[in-house]
Amino acid sequence: MTGLQLVLIGGGHAHAIVVEQLRKRPLAGVRVTLISDTTHAPYSGMLPGHVAGFYDFETCHIPLEPLCQKAGVEFYCDRAIGLDLENQRVLCEQRPPVAFDWLSIDVGSTPAKTAVVGAAENAIAAKPVPQFLAAWNQFLEQMPQTPQSIGIVGGGAGGVELALNMRGRFQQLGVASQIAIHLFHRSDRLTPQHNRYVSQTLEKLLHQNGIQLHLEAEVKAIAPTQVICQSGLSVECHPVFWVTQASAPDWIQASGLATDERGFIAVNSNLQSLSHPRVFAAGDVATLVDDPRPKAGVFAVRQGKPLGNNLQRALSGQPLQPYSPQKRFLGLIGTGDKRAIASWGPLGCGPYAGLWQWKDFLDRQFMARFRC
Ligand SMILES: Cc1cc2nc3c(=O)[nH]c(=O)nc-3n(C[C@H](O)[C@H](O)[C@H](O)COP(=O)(O)OP(=O)(O)OC[C@H]3O[C@@H](n4cnc5c(N)ncnc54)[C@H](O)[C@@H]3O)c2cc1C
Repeated sequence: MTGLQLVLIGGGHAHAIVVEQLRKRPLAGVRVTLISDTTHAPYSGMLPGHVAGFYDFETCHIPLEPLCQKAGVEFYCDRAIGLDLENQRVLCEQRPPVAFDWLSIDVGSTPAKTAVVGAAENAIAAKPVPQFLAAWNQFLEQMPQTPQSIGIVGGGAGGVELALNMRGRFQQLGVASQIAIHLFHRSDRLTPQHNRYVSQTLEKLLHQNGIQLHLEAEVKAIAPTQVICQSGLSVECHPVFWVTQASAPDWIQASGLATDERGFIAVNSNLQSLSHPRVFAAGDVATLVDDPRPKAGVFAVRQGKPLGNNLQRALSGQPLQPYSPQKRFLGLIGTGDKRAIASWGPLGCGPYAGLWQWKDFLDRQFMARFRC
């Protein structure tokens, strides 16, 4: 396999694990390159805790450059903007096209907001995370002296966790009574991917924390300082954070790779593109067509090892090994007060401090493998 080029696009959870694997098990004679638009990849499990002020930046970000250096992987800080699949090249924003023999994509997703008037201009998406954190930090620095309302659109686990962790931060800063939080959710039930216990407990917690919950509130427009819903409800909010359903990057849809109906890369159980066998994908950007799973960090993490193994196998001409995702996954949802709720299939419990300590232990253990 001398002279082959493996290119990884995106420093998502699965690719961080692949690079870590390459450090332990290098691929002789293969030039590996990671193209990432950020030098520090955020770890989703600790992001809400960072918003609450429990973790500093370093604790919840993977330092990609030194990680690559240790693994003998070339690191390009750039954004992939397209693929020339016929000539096997990745098109980048700044540098010349990067040639590949094998390609793997782990670029995550962003909250969908295209259909809502004014959302692109007036709302701050939770992803890309660096832009979101810049806006959040700016808000904290310019903390208003007068009462104010902020909005969060999306009542999935991400939106609810964000609301509770923002509230936690405001409480620590002694400004909770001054800043109202409005959470808008289109259906009549929060966190539809979790069981009823979790939805109901989170709803109770939002009320206890004084967060204004608007259920069955389909947002139709975002004005510079206002959230406007289909029902006629209109609430003064600034800023507005956007944490809705995951959507695929446009350049993936334009690349010619086979996708599912939402534009995510369609992969088989080997995490290999259905249309282009030299291309692999994992994490939010990929959909296992025979066994689709929710777009959650836990699956991106789980796919890291099988992806790394299959890339090693592909490059050495060995047969690939199918990956079988778990049917149920343990969700630990932080509630912004160093407690957490556990969710597993139809079962749920909490919020308890012990669950937070457990989550904190697991998250720190995960991040420890990337410390350089
Ligand atoms: C507020 C919030 C809280 C969440 N909390 C949780 C949680 O507690 N638990 C959980 O399981 N899930 C959580 N999620 C979901 C979770 O963030 C994602 O499922 C997870 O990050 C997906 O991992 P990934 O590896 O697919 O991509 P990502 O973690 O998004 O990583 C993709 C990487 O690729 C880079 N990239 C993107 N585009 C390009 C490009 N064109 N060129 C080069 N690089 C690129 C990005 O900068 C990023 O570093 C949360 C989501 C949000 C919005």
